[in-house]
Amino acid sequence: MDNSVVLNVNGIEVIYNHVILVLKGVSLQVREGSIVALMGGNGAGKTTTLRAISNLLAGERGAVTKGSIELRGERIENLTPADLVQRGVVQVMEGRHCFAHLTIEENLLTGAYTRHSRAEVAANLEKVYNYFPRLKTRRGSQAAYTSGGEQQMCAIGRALMASPSIVLLDEPSMGLAPQIVEEVFSIVKDLNSRERVTFLLAEQNTNMALRYSDYGYILESGRVVMDGPAADLASNEDVKEFYLGVG
Ligand code: ATP
Repeated sequence: MDNSVVLNVNGIEVIYNHVILVLKGVSLQVREGSIVALMGGNGAGKTTTLRAISNLLAGERGAVTKGSIELRGERIENLTPADLVQRGVVQVMEGRHCFAHLTIEENLLTGAYTRHSRAEVAANLEKVYNYFPRLKTRRGSQAAYTSGGEQQMCAIGRALMASPSIVLLDEPSMGLAPQIVEEVFSIVKDLNSRERVTFLLAEQNTNMALRYSDYGYILESGRVVMDGPAADLASNEDVKEFYLGVG
């Protein structure tokens, strides 16, 4: 296997509640330093794929029943979510999930629970504030009183506090105004190019995902139906017709 591949998902099947087959053999690869988009409509299986990678299916009564998942060539299906964070795989959940009663800064610090060096935590916090100046301004505000965009930024910032090598980002655009979506995506791009953070993002907004990613996979009913460099997908007639709303 090409050693620039950080994450290799190989033919995974996922079943919920012992009976509902949701992923029917999904394979994908993420190269070091890239942004890879996982696209597709409602219920296609994007969130399930991310949850399978970060081993968060058990809480949903789901399980990977076939296939394998490798991080830099090492099988990770049996690692706990905490082990995965320790190894640099950090998920930002759909719907942001900030702790409403904590301040922005307290929320960010919860992301640093695997880091034991105070200097590293302080440096990461500074870095987050550098990339998200809005969070610095709002550092003392309770998350409940911040905007949806600020909460999304806080959720990404919290992931960065764990010094990740790959961030699994679920629906970053969900519920945000177009201008804020643009702001969030451009920060993701900056983090990718300047800090070399690798991203696998699940996104229904195909247009936005293709503009900011290097490579894309399109899922339909639990299967990858198309994949390729983002620029090729963006100019593909079928993608334009079915996913970009232009015929
Ligand atoms: P969305 O954008 O709506 O989140 P998605 O592509 O992320 O869609 P998933 O959330 O992965 O899709 O859902 C894939 C399928 O699995 C859907 O049919 C959904 O109803 C089903 N599903 C998701 N979670 C569960 C669960 N806990 N139990 C049973 N079925 C589930």
